[in-house]
Amino acid sequence: MDNFPLVETVGGGLVGCRHWISPLEGAFTRTAKIALVNALDPSALCKLLFGRRLLNTSFAAVHGRSFINGVWAMATAQGATGQSVLPGFLTSLCGGWAMSIAGDTNLRLCPSCSDVGFHTALFQIDGLSACPIHGDPLTTSCTQCGSPTPRYALCQGAFQTPMQCTECGNGYGRAWNGTANFAAWTGPRDVRPLVLLVRRLRLLQSINLDWPAASNWLDDPSGEGAPRQRALIFHALAGLSAGTQDASSPIRMLTFPCEWTLRPKVWPLVEPRLAIYKAIRRHIIRRVLGARLRKDFRFDQTFYLHRVNEAVVPKRATCAPELHALMLWIKRCEDSNAQPVMPWERQSIGPGASPRGLQLNLRKSVLLWPTGDRVSDGAWGHFLWECFLEDLWTARRWRFLAAPLGDPLEQENQHAEQVQANRVQFLVLLTTWAPKMSSLLEALPSGISQFTWQRGRGARQLSLVTIKRSGGATYVDHFNL
Ligand SMILES: [Zn+2]
Ligand SMILES: [Zn+2]
Repeated sequence: MDNFPLVETVGGGLVGCRHWISPLEGAFTRTAKIALVNALDPSALCKLLFGRRLLNTSFAAVHGRSFINGVWAMATAQGATGQSVLPGFLTSLCGGWAMSIAGDTNLRLCPSCSDVGFHTALFQIDGLSACPIHGDPLTTSCTQCGSPTPRYALCQGAFQTPMQCTECGNGYGRAWNGTANFAAWTGPRDVRPLVLLVRRLRLLQSINLDWPAASNWLDDPSGEGAPRQRALIFHALAGLSAGTQDASSPIRMLTFPCEWTLRPKVWPLVEPRLAIYKAIRRHIIRRVLGARLRKDFRFDQTFYLHRVNEAVVPKRATCAPELHALMLWIKRCEDSNAQPVMPWERQSIGPGASPRGLQLNLRKSVLLWPTGDRVSDGAWGHFLWECFLEDLWTARRWRFLAAPLGDPLEQENQHAEQVQANRVQFLVLLTTWAPKMSSLLEALPSGISQFTWQRGRGARQLSLVTIKRSGGATYVDHFNL
């Protein structure tokens, strides 16, 4: 430590690093610097800084010693040195939303920031793909050997050799060579882009934002959902605090005034909503489906209806996804018997002639959306159309995934090896996608979510958030509400 400058804090028996910490620096590099200056192993580091035991394993989604959430460290941080790490936790920068927008599975690095000994907890936000200062893509692997970076947590793997690859020993940037490299720990010259982001995230704490269902907002049931879901939530929050959604955002947000309705719920008038529903249904049948819907269409010839969960599944991959989507949507909206009833089937039955669904009723889950709040009928129409767009996306994805299996349930040679193999795959696929195709399992599409908020004494607002799917159009394009 030839270049060791003046020691500025000695707290809890540890030399502090305040001079070499930049504004908005994250807890990871703050801790790494203390570890290198004091030559501590991970176990002693955890004990002396935070009065806590190092955890060898952590199976939770958020590590028990994670640098995202500072709760575990707050009460027991030891002395001035331990305290000096606390502002670096993501919860200190953006409060309770930290866990909904950021993950600790891997340390996410900007190479240019690493070169000057800097990292910020903001890099752990999944929705951020590049460093706001340098524009470098954030990376989670060693530039030399490609091994993944450690967890963003105080754990053995991350602090045995802090900020160096555990596989090849390569430092994550020029500033990191296994010693207290004071001369290189200069930090970035200008952190204003980060300040701006923090300011926006802090704004969320002042607008009374209420989004209890955020964790149910599911993009794609077959993917590794968590990071993508956190990215979507971040884009919604960032758009809300900026007051506008930027064009490259993966989500679409529509905002309407709303009223909190005290229990018992004040019911909306059913008639206008029924009229809106029918108008959208007519539009889908005439404009979206057109010739693809034949008048002799019979539901059971084209679709299976799952015995237990009532998932609607096309029998053949040649079924138009638009038709499949219409069936999913009707089943979701109408409170009818098991099988969706087409409008002309209803009309062809004389008045009072049959008990079968002469009366069209909307399901309560759809009619009374959103729970706890009341919006205008026009806003509700937007919601209904977004439901159809989601069902259309589901139908298109289903066809894309199921078509290569060649309709295994419809083949005559059920004992052929290939048919049997495809059948197994088909059923696995169905298990994953059944919730999206069943209104019993998912009363409303999980790709749609909403939250409410209020700025100061302003009117209460409801924002409907959906994921941009290719080929989607907005309701406004078709209906002038
Ligand atoms: Zn950077
Ligand atoms: Zn490496």
